[in-house]
Amino acid sequence: MLYIIMTTPLCNLCCKYCGGSLHGMPADITYSISDLQELLKRDNNAVVAFYGGEPLLKPMNVKEYVENLNAKHFVINTNGYFIETLDDTIHRFDSILLSIDGGKQITDYYREKGCYDRVISAVDYLNDRDFNGEIIARMSVSVKSDIYEDVMHLLKIFPFVHWQLDMIWSAMWDLPEFKEWVKSSYLPGIQSLVKYWVEEMKDGNILGIVPFLGIVSRMLHGGSGLFCQSGTKSVTVTTDGKILACPIAPDYTWNILGDIETGFKPIDIGQPCIQCDDYYLCGGRCLFAHKERLWGQEGFDEMCHVTRFLIHELMKYKPIYEKYVEKLRYPLFNNTTEIIP
Ligand code: SF4
Ligand code: SF4
Repeated sequence: MLYIIMTTPLCNLCCKYCGGSLHGMPADITYSISDLQELLKRDNNAVVAFYGGEPLLKPMNVKEYVENLNAKHFVINTNGYFIETLDDTIHRFDSILLSIDGGKQITDYYREKGCYDRVISAVDYLNDRDFNGEIIARMSVSVKSDIYEDVMHLLKIFPFVHWQLDMIWSAMWDLPEFKEWVKSSYLPGIQSLVKYWVEEMKDGNILGIVPFLGIVSRMLHGGSGLFCQSGTKSVTVTTDGKILACPIAPDYTWNILGDIETGFKPIDIGQPCIQCDDYYLCGGRCLFAHKERLWGQEGFDEMCHVTRFLIHELMKYKPIYEKYVEKLRYPLFNNTTEIIP
């Protein structure tokens, strides 16, 4: 099971699509580490992921938990500004996800001036120290993004690239603008990216485009439900010890499943997903979007349209994947990449 630990709701940045620090919980962890140890005690396959806010605003918590929690894998989602505070602890991580949105111009526009260079310095730091886990570029894709250009750029620097679409709860655009962008930019970009990925694969080069790897892996090896597993096999612990299904929505009551002392009740995806023809590969995409139709039914339908397009583009090349069945197994554990963008 995946346990996402919020070390703080605070963030040193205030990205345009995100709005910066979260609210509604203390800035510091208020429960004791023994409560966490108790929660993980019976789980021999625990994955612990650090999250925020910016988790490395509290590096001592991260280091303490890595030393004292019984987890099979450690993961961190960070903006990279304070990566050096981890020092030798970096080698205890299996996956490090660095937030970056593409090239310098787009990243600095969404995030802040100089952000791109800071993230590249973090990558250099990890490489210089021979970090041998996964380094994943974690993109947010929004109003000014060009998915083909941005992913192609990041593939030159990162072994793995993952993205999430800024939709449903976005402050950057509304549904009509999103739909127009999807038609004119995103879907053609996805089509080109899938073609490029498959051409490279024919030469034996399997590029780390995370959404493609995850969907094709499920096509070949099976699997079910939400890739992020939020609410069932993934929970988030807030700084005051509440247990949430999804880390991004601490304010929503349906998302609060319990607390660290008394345990939690799981929740899962429902209709219309479980009867959808594409459910076996989509898994319902996102619990939050499933529960909160902030762009109405039309917005939900558009989200499905985008997801189905990606799945069906990837399905066209299934015979090619058969040659690389074992290499196309991803992720090997829940590393917090939600797979469906
Ligand atoms: S495509 Fe839409 S309806 Fe189908 S499983 Fe995915 S989110 Fe649910
Ligand atoms: S995919 Fe949705 S439900 Fe899952 S972690 Fe991301 S925002 Fe939360």
